[in-house]
Amino acid sequence: MTRDTVAALATAPGTGGIAVVRISGPQAYAVAAQVFAPADKARKVEEAKGYTAMYGRFLWRGRPQDETVALFFRAPKSYTGEDVVELSCHGGAAVTKALLEACIEAGAVPAPPGEFTKRAFLSGRISLTQAEAVMDLISASSRSGAAAAQAALSGALYQKIKPVTVQLTALAGHIAAYIDYPEEGVPGLEEGVLLDTLCRARETLRALIEGYDKGAMLRMGVETAIVGSPNVGKSTLFNLLAGFDRAIVTPIAGTTRDVVEQAVQVGGLELLLADTAGLRETADTVEAEGIRRSYGCFEKAQLVVAVFDGSQPLEEAGRALCESCRGRRALAVVNKTDLERRLKAEELAGYFTDVIELSARDEDAADKLEKAVAGVLQLTGAEPGGAMLANARQLSAAVKAAGALDDALEAERQGFDLDAVGVCIDDALNALYELTGESASDAVIEEVFSKFCVGK
Ligand code: GDP
Repeated sequence: MTRDTVAALATAPGTGGIAVVRISGPQAYAVAAQVFAPADKARKVEEAKGYTAMYGRFLWRGRPQDETVALFFRAPKSYTGEDVVELSCHGGAAVTKALLEACIEAGAVPAPPGEFTKRAFLSGRISLTQAEAVMDLISASSRSGAAAAQAALSGALYQKIKPVTVQLTALAGHIAAYIDYPEEGVPGLEEGVLLDTLCRARETLRALIEGYDKGAMLRMGVETAIVGSPNVGKSTLFNLLAGFDRAIVTPIAGTTRDVVEQAVQVGGLELLLADTAGLRETADTVEAEGIRRSYGCFEKAQLVVAVFDGSQPLEEAGRALCESCRGRRALAVVNKTDLERRLKAEELAGYFTDVIELSARDEDAADKLEKAVAGVLQLTGAEPGGAMLANARQLSAAVKAAGALDDALEAERQGFDLDAVGVCIDDALNALYELTGESASDAVIEEVFSKFCVGK
């Protein structure tokens, strides 16, 4: 297949120390030869070996411009698998515009979003899940998100799925040979082998599907709602986690009326924190709307921080909150321990993942709170370095494959002939190939790369 040679700014647009324009395709060296003049006249761009660099200037309409370093990559040992030249100049808008224009005038076409990574995928250098990981890595805003993307980029998910597809393919091949060529004397499947392979494959997929939500928290942050009765110290604790006075704190009950949000980093994870209006009966229309929103926030939260005033006995509203936290990922904070105690942590035991006591006025309150939050999240067992499904596309393919394996097992149990089992295994394989991109349709590939940015 002959491809265009494409060029794009690979660094973020705007001002910066340096900017990189990347050229990829069969004419990458020819384009670079027109736009880049090595300082050492004896050196020729066309003859540059892969993994070498040259210093010089880029040319715009033949005139030397900014200082430039050219990095050369020869196919197939480059990001895209094609010839690639990367030109680094100073990172100003006018400079990069001129360099890019020069490349286009020399015959390159502007690269659409994700084109470089798409070429890496099409040339077989990376799997579709790895390509998606590139995008996730670029957009990761927390350490754990970056670690999860890094694991996917090094092929953790692909490595997990590969043995499953290899075993299922062997099984499907054996079944097909046994059925289609009876005269060849292909031996029947050993007892137990069929069931064993199907069960193991399904187990691997089930574990991946079950870990999806945990993985999503690592990548996209944990939706966290701080809830409780009015005046218990929710906004004070919210501000402690945020590290600045984000929410208004007053002794007046009903101060927080709308949901106040702030992203914070705790233990390498991003928390999408929401401070909510205190839960109580009210005749005030605005406050009532705030409380309605608080409930909405509480319902969808992946982590609940339920705050109680340690100087007040547990009343009906507090008890109701305890009940609704049962079985959820929830931390109870008994606040205001500097005041006379009327609520003991033991009264809350059994409802929450963990219960801590503190006074927001203590110096180490923020530290204590962060540790407890990190502890509750760690209990989720999500491991950034492990294999996990990274998005809805991957999840749906895994669910489809697991469903087909369930059907195969059911067909086997019901004593259907091997042909029916074989069809189900083929369905599972197709779903898995779609997941890794080995047989993804053009529409799926377009969809994946449409989410990329230009230059990647
Ligand atoms: P919210 O309505 O639950 O958000 O509560 P706020 O954070 O606005 O706090 C209500 C009042 O309790 C404010 O006057 C805070 O200064 C006070 N407060 C918060 N935490 C503590 C604490 O640990 N000890 C004491 N004594 N007062 C606190």
